[in-house]
Amino acid sequence: MAIKFASNFSKKFASKEIFLFDLDGTLYLGRKVLPGAKSLVNKLHRLNKKVFYFTNNSSRSDAQYVRKLRKMGFPCEASQIVMSTHTLIRGLKSKGLKRVYCLGTPAMKSMLKRSRIIHTSVKPQAVVVGFDKTLTYSKLLFASRLIDKGVPYFVAHPDFFCPTDRGPEPDCGSIALLLEKTCRKKPIAVYGKPHPWMIDEVIRRQKCSRSKMILIGDRLQTDILMAKASRIQSLLVLSGETKRKDLKASKLRPDFVLRSVAEILL
Ligand SMILES: [Mg+2]
Repeated sequence: MAIKFASNFSKKFASKEIFLFDLDGTLYLGRKVLPGAKSLVNKLHRLNKKVFYFTNNSSRSDAQYVRKLRKMGFPCEASQIVMSTHTLIRGLKSKGLKRVYCLGTPAMKSMLKRSRIIHTSVKPQAVVVGFDKTLTYSKLLFASRLIDKGVPYFVAHPDFFCPTDRGPEPDCGSIALLLEKTCRKKPIAVYGKPHPWMIDEVIRRQKCSRSKMILIGDRLQTDILMAKASRIQSLLVLSGETKRKDLKASKLRPDFVLRSVAEILL
């Protein structure tokens, strides 16, 4: 069955100035670049369109994403990477929090440090929860003690699992839920997609009206929900997590739907 989308899609797509791409499930799947993804992004660059790469994955740093995307063949500068960690940092800074106990990878801690937010176990002002692939029980226990004593905690992104070609892996949202159930306290804020701050981060870097932006992603509850919350148009691709039956069952309606980015013709 052919997927229906507006007949003037190509024209509408080409009239956009800023293209916000989700990564996994949209431009690549695990370690495999999806067909048509590289030629599309390279073409957008040749047309002087602005491209931003969105990810909730707080286990890596922006510098690591630059290296990964370049290696895969996508043109990429650090200023094009928009991560959950960026919005988390902005949230912490807006509250004047500079000393945190971070349940995160060394890569995440390095991003915090660059923004003068240090990881410490000595009188931290807050607990920060990321996609900590270096998690240990003693770290969880230490964070629980702090939260139980009333130290506020902040979560980088809500994802419960990270899809991989070997199956789902426990992600930031699951680690945060473990703390929430243990301490019976909710986090102060959960950043990353679908938090509209991810879009605000782009507008801060690149002044542009929302009508000139379009988000391309594979997840309804993060990518499409964020686009809706931020009042920008969205294109759902069915090359990742969302299947046709999920879309049918959901109340969330993206503006456009395609099987993959390979179907985008400019
Ligand atoms: Mg995705």
